[in-house]
Amino acid sequence: MRSLDVRRLHREGLLIAGNTFGRTWTHRGREVGSILITVEENHVQLCYRQSWRGGPWTDCVNTVMLDWSDCHFGGRRPWWFCPGCGRRVALLYSGRGRYACRHCFQLAYRSQRETQEDLAARRANKVRDRLGWPRGVLNPQGERPKGMHLSTYYRLLDQHNRHSMQAFAGIGRSLGLINKRLKKIK
Ligand SMILES: [Zn+2]
Repeated sequence: MRSLDVRRLHREGLLIAGNTFGRTWTHRGREVGSILITVEENHVQLCYRQSWRGGPWTDCVNTVMLDWSDCHFGGRRPWWFCPGCGRRVALLYSGRGRYACRHCFQLAYRSQRETQEDLAARRANKVRDRLGWPRGVLNPQGERPKGMHLSTYYRLLDQHNRHSMQAFAGIGRSLGLINKRLKKIK
């Protein structure tokens, strides 16, 4: 992930109001991303182009607030104020049309994963409907419906297993979380 380290920018003497500078990211010698950073009194402006998962390139402009704290041995150190949650952080990561801290992206990642697992469960149920099996990936599998072609049956079986495995992975993770919580309570 493309990250911006505020301490590094400070060390390089770039965080001075009125300053404009660029950053590029390369992968195997090819430029895969670039950003233009303009420093203002208490914030920076990030201008960059982004293509999300191979989609069209879009121009993005984000404003990120800066905060300064005094160091133990004199001097000051900068922090980003995460535009997503307001935490003071040293690193911001690039996401879809915005920069945010790792906490924000973990949350986004988790909810995205949950939707994928819900989707898998729904797809498995659709196949179960066609097979005349009771809904729910935790229910036992039925048999081949009378009159269904063997090849159709195997194709549906294969689809069902793929979707239910994906849904299972989510259920397993949820159970793991519950177990962890129970252990804490004990
Ligand atoms: Zn955040």
